[in-house]
Amino acid sequence: MRVYYDRGICLQDGIKEIVMDPHGQTQGSIVSHAHMDHLSRGALMTPETLAVMKVRLGGGAGKPLRIGGSEKYGGFEVKFHDAGHTFGSAMVEVGDALYTGDFNPEGGLTCGVAVPRPCKTLIVESTYGRPQFSLPPKKEVEKDVLSWAESQLATRSVAFGAIEFGKAQELVALLNTIKVEPVVSDRMADIADIYVAHGHRLNYRRLSEMTKEEKKEARAYVVSRNWLGAGAPQEFSFFRENGGSRAYVSGWCGVFDFTRGGELDAQFPLTDHADFDDLLDFVAACKPRQVYTVGSSPQELAREITSRLKIKAESLQQRRRRKDEVGH
Ligand SMILES: [Zn+2]
Repeated sequence: MRVYYDRGICLQDGIKEIVMDPHGQTQGSIVSHAHMDHLSRGALMTPETLAVMKVRLGGGAGKPLRIGGSEKYGGFEVKFHDAGHTFGSAMVEVGDALYTGDFNPEGGLTCGVAVPRPCKTLIVESTYGRPQFSLPPKKEVEKDVLSWAESQLATRSVAFGAIEFGKAQELVALLNTIKVEPVVSDRMADIADIYVAHGHRLNYRRLSEMTKEEKKEARAYVVSRNWLGAGAPQEFSFFRENGGSRAYVSGWCGVFDFTRGGELDAQFPLTDHADFDDLLDFVAACKPRQVYTVGSSPQELAREITSRLKIKAESLQQRRRRKDEVGH
């Protein structure tokens, strides 16, 4: 099987060919999950991803395959496994190759857990692919988020800044564990409604449905990060005027200090990705003969896999460049 990168992750075996997470709608494609940098219409994807796609891209079709299911697709036998990254996220097994997509062996409250699978070829995401990208255990970060929220809510409102799909709904689920019903932006609520339709018990309020009186009470909010600063839209300006506390929630908070600008009171490195140690442990457990890395820091991760695990590894993006250079 030939693996290369051409506006997506391509697998080719004779006349059989598929492309995973392509940039834009592509014939015979597979989409691993509904984050925008992976999402396109018309692909094979989980029913959950398909439902989120319709909201995020304003419609479109796709072919559903559930987690744990298998399907003959593009001439290959394709299986979906839990990726533990977001609601509906899948790792994709194609013959003897495994593509992790974005994944997390620690899983989440609104998704399963990524479990290593033996494979000959492993295509692994490399978001936290540098040795210094080491994050604390998720359970510890979750405890920190909750104790900060509880202490602040005694006297004032709190707002968590998070991306609208995945992290936002995880925060709702997390706050629900201490019986806090957060208020979320309408966009986040539209997506959370899909979780509920698929059986997740999430309790949240829609921002547009809040009364003037309710906005004066100490409440928890989940909104986009850029709503926490001076760029907040009119509908959320009351939060700043009432002097609420603001926190950013992202794995990158474990690497960078976002509180320096003065617009944030706290930050929490809650991630839905494998950190560096998770990546190495996962690769070792899959026992592949060849690894390709994709995403940010692919060369760094490939180098670490080769030197620490003694497994052949290279950046898939690098492979495209080489292919282009020789004129294929
Ligand atoms: Zn993602």
